[in-house]
Amino acid sequence: MATWVVTGGGRGIGRGLVERLLAEGENVVATVREPTVLAGLVAASDGRLKVIALDVADPAAVARLGELVEGPVDVLVNNAGVLMERNADTLAPELDWGVFEKSFRVNAIAPLFVTRALLPKLRRPGGKILMISSRMGSLAEDKSDTTAYRASKAALNRIARGLARDLEPAGIAVLTMHPGWVRTDMGGPGAAVSTAESVSGLIARVRALDIGSTGRFLDHTGDPLSW
Ligand code: NDP
Repeated sequence: MATWVVTGGGRGIGRGLVERLLAEGENVVATVREPTVLAGLVAASDGRLKVIALDVADPAAVARLGELVEGPVDVLVNNAGVLMERNADTLAPELDWGVFEKSFRVNAIAPLFVTRALLPKLRRPGGKILMISSRMGSLAEDKSDTTAYRASKAALNRIARGLARDLEPAGIAVLTMHPGWVRTDMGGPGAAVSTAESVSGLIARVRALDIGSTGRFLDHTGDPLSW
């Protein structure tokens, strides 16, 4: 029985992960902004689900996270994310400082500081970190739409590669993944992949991850993506 920490576990892909991991007998710590959304799951979890209230964009709250999580943690999933703009190119008037700042704060900076806060609790060697990024962060996509989201995920990718290098000596592996285009509030009803299918792929890739394969960028089917 492994212990997984999942940020943004209240809905979408994060909730899918929490539900699947519990069904498979794992221990889960879910961080959510509004803990009541997981009350039903907690009650049915035989003590295997713990919920922590956390806005990942709040530096003081993130700094306290390490004290609230009981180790050792086997897997940290940085899943919480925001998509604030639709199709806004680099010159779109709605793309103001606030959109950029919040996108970077939640999608790129928070995953680094959540990781840093939990590092003392991560199993070493053998701990694993999954960054839920997006293929929209890949510089190989020659696009100018959804600029703040794409730029924040590109920054996350850069940070994840740095972490993979820095944590390799401790035996902690880092995997960056695109979860597929998933039917959630963010992905919308027309998205190609169900939450269940995405979650299966993500969990399988994390289980296959070891220190020899740290630092990769994959989609939910396991195909490698270009940074
Ligand atoms: P949803 O919009 O359905 O859910 C977003 C999750 O992030 C919610 O749990 C939300 O919590 C949480 N969150 C947002 N802001 C914060 C914050 N400041 N502090 C804490 N939690 C926060 O999105 P998805 O489930 O689809 O996306 C999950 C991840 O997958 C994201 O990183 C996204 O970028 C990525 N992704 C999704 C794709 C898709 O097609 N769906 C494609 C590629 C990547 P709350 O309920 O409190 O708002």
